Amino acid sequence: MVGSDSVEVERRLRGGELRCPCGGGLAPWGHARPRGVRGVGDLRPRRARCGVCAGTHVLLAVSCLLRRADGVDVIGQALRAKASGAGHRPIAAELGRPVSTVRGWLRAFSRSAEAVRSRFTALLVELDWLAAPLPSRSSVFADAVEAIGACAAAARRRLGVVGAVSPWQLAAAVTGGRLLANTPRPS
Ligand SMILES: [Zn+2]
Repeated sequence: MVGSDSVEVERRLRGGELRCPCGGGLAPWGHARPRGVRGVGDLRPRRARCGVCAGTHVLLAVSCLLRRADGVDVIGQALRAKASGAGHRPIAAELGRPVSTVRGWLRAFSRSAEAVRSRFTALLVELDWLAAPLPSRSSVFADAVEAIGACAAAARRRLGVVGAVSPWQLAAAVTGGRLLANTPRPS
């Protein structure tokens, strides 16, 4: 996962600042297939290759999630609305997205909600060990959304610069783009 500023990503990639999960340095390796992401625009994600393990990676911007055609901020709005008690039909109407798409997001997040809640609750303690315990909400779904928001607030207090990305972009970064996948990969 990389930042949304493609010029900055290119600079860091060429400067050898981006690392493979194995620890090796990444170098430019062409581009992935162009894709349109609603709410973000047309993207041509960068590919990179590791000089140590020779693995190749697609660099995904934190404004996106893996295999989702909508930006994470739009998806996050839907998750927040659901956590506040809204149903998928009014949410879809409000966001101007197909009902089936929104229902798919909500179901996918429901399936990963416990893993997300646990991951972000742990991260919250890492960011701010004086943070008050999170109030328990009406559902694991709502608890998970609450934990993401609390982490974003704690990250802003702790790191400042993270204020440049939204809570949902932080969530995309922390889960490696798998916020709506069953098992968010720790990163
Ligand atoms: Zn590697």
